[in-house]
Amino acid sequence: KTTEVQCVGCGVAIQTDKPGELGYAPESSLKNETIICQRCFRLKHYNEVQDVALTDDDFLKILNQLGTMDGLIVKIVDIFDFNGSWLPGLHRFVGKNPILLIGNKEDVLPKSAKRPRMIQWLKKQAKDLGLQPVDVLLVSASKGTYIEEAMEAIEKYREGKDVFVVGCTNVGKSTFINRIIKNVTGEADIITTSHFPGTTLDMIEIPLDDGSALFDTPGIINHHQMAHFVDKKDLKIITPKKEIKPKVFQLNEEQTLFFGGLARFDYIKGGRRSVTCYLSNELGIHRTKLENADALYEKHVGDMLNPPRKNGMEEFPELIRHEFIIKEKKTDIVFSGLGWVTINEPGAQIAAYVPKGVTVSLRPSLI
Ligand code: GDP
Repeated sequence: KTTEVQCVGCGVAIQTDKPGELGYAPESSLKNETIICQRCFRLKHYNEVQDVALTDDDFLKILNQLGTMDGLIVKIVDIFDFNGSWLPGLHRFVGKNPILLIGNKEDVLPKSAKRPRMIQWLKKQAKDLGLQPVDVLLVSASKGTYIEEAMEAIEKYREGKDVFVVGCTNVGKSTFINRIIKNVTGEADIITTSHFPGTTLDMIEIPLDDGSALFDTPGIINHHQMAHFVDKKDLKIITPKKEIKPKVFQLNEEQTLFFGGLARFDYIKGGRRSVTCYLSNELGIHRTKLENADALYEKHVGDMLNPPRKNGMEEFPELIRHEFIIKEKKTDIVFSGLGWVTINEPGAQIAAYVPKGVTVSLRPSLI
């Protein structure tokens, strides 16, 4: 049953009958003075992610809430995982509220990615996905670049009203807001940042100087993110911390690349050619012959091919194969949450493998 009680960690309404879902706490915990949901409990005491199913209902509730507010919506996306962090459907719920789109983590893009082009790209993507932002910015919350520009834009577009910052987990929303707080008040780390999806507290209110406020909404968990299939240590490995060094491979037909043990790229047909991998610098890439790839994976996933690790293999889903013929020149094959592989010339037959639940998509080359 759903109770009137709220979790002291994230503010969610506590329920006691659906263990895997948002707000669950065991019945016995209701007699405690302060009640914390299982997700926050696990995070607090074991530092571990629990993939709580944010039901579509909860997601709709958050979106509907935004629609009833009057103010500026600041939507943050991770440009390294654009599709994985997009939050589809937002525009249908925000009513008349203007949306300012902010692409975060610009520091991880290689130098060859030119800023104006990236912003252009973000604008086009937003438009194609049905969003009409009042403006599009590119920042690095962790480095602090273009934060002042973002603050000026927020000040301009909010027109004296409240600000609601939304974004899916792990896009750097807390880091961004902490930056703003730091710039405004000179104090660091008022809101906890964490490596874990789903840790942002429920609607944190930051007063702005004219009586309005900036609200941090809960990070929405996106189940298609690779982040859900790796532990805390490995999330650090797959999340780029600094500029990505693209890795170029000259591939013959029937060669395979493994990205740790998390994903696999088969180059099946199309003559000898080069492909460029844009992945976290810390993630190991292993090349092998296509004919040996299945056996190699079977034998070495969890050790040589890691992450995942041996002790996490039970929960790790099987890899699912997605086959593509590349028809356009300069195409990215995007492994959601992990990065992408760029193929310059059309005509390649390839297969991309990702854990069940993670998305693979094609797009015109970003860089
Ligand atoms: P939230 O879940 O959206 O609140 O995300 P966090 O602020 O906790 O950040 C998620 C992860 O992204 C952390 O590992 C941060 O260090 C990292 N991060 C946040 N902003 C940036 C950025 O601008 N550049 C890079 N490279 N990493 C960032």
